[in-house]
Amino acid sequence: MQLTEALQQINDNNSSFIYKVYIPSLQKEVMFRSLSVGELKSLSKIMVEDDTENLLYATTTIISSLIQDSSINIMDLIELDRLAILFQLKKINMLGDDNYNVTCGKCEKQFLFEYDLNKVLEKIKNISLTNQTNDFEINHMKYTIEVGYPTLQDIMGYSEISKRFAQKIEEGKKTDEEKEKESFVSASFILKYIRLLYVRGLSINDNKIDNFLDSTLADRILLMEHMPAGFMNEVNNIIVKNRQIYDILDIIGTIVACPHCHADILVKVDPKDFFMI
Ligand SMILES: [Zn+2]
Repeated sequence: MQLTEALQQINDNNSSFIYKVYIPSLQKEVMFRSLSVGELKSLSKIMVEDDTENLLYATTTIISSLIQDSSINIMDLIELDRLAILFQLKKINMLGDDNYNVTCGKCEKQFLFEYDLNKVLEKIKNISLTNQTNDFEINHMKYTIEVGYPTLQDIMGYSEISKRFAQKIEEGKKTDEEKEKESFVSASFILKYIRLLYVRGLSINDNKIDNFLDSTLADRILLMEHMPAGFMNEVNNIIVKNRQIYDILDIIGTIVACPHCHADILVKVDPKDFFMI
């Protein structure tokens, strides 16, 4: 067999080797094709850079090229889906190691931690993804917000906006208004978690902002700027109460007892490690 023939056969086999991946927000399994060494190599290069934004883009792009269901818009998936997919890609494509060298923060001795992917996948399946509705009142206006998980579209849109402001700082060309907006943007990452918003005055009927999620993130941020002081604090409390932010930490972190001093140590497993070769 010629090299080119072999290459063709391997390529054909790779693209036809299909497996199922569970996507939490869709609550179903979706077909994926397998990852090639070439794709793994380019991912690996990006992982080494350690730029959170590049990692987000690179892993989203690779997921969208592996997914075999064209009816799914990858940008509508949530961050938890992205993590869940990466954990499963590790398992199916046999990437990386399951043993981590951990240094105990208390006694400073090292120990080996064996990571159980099945347990993590079980945790992911048990997370409730239902949006939570909450009411609060400020200055005789009633606000109802529904909080849930931001989509990848929102997360990327948000990082675009903060990058734009960061660039302006570097260029030193900021107007006062921009300076104000910039501090608002950096303080309001939680805005991504608002999925629906209702505003209601005492004498006005329910007023749902219909196109809230359809409008751009920049427009949503603009709208938030006009909210009364105290609004962001209320939203923050609601999000913390509903645990959306912590779910992701729960998944990448496991508490283990140090075998030397028995202290509880939080071990975080970063999905980017799976793609380092
Ligand atoms: Zn220890």
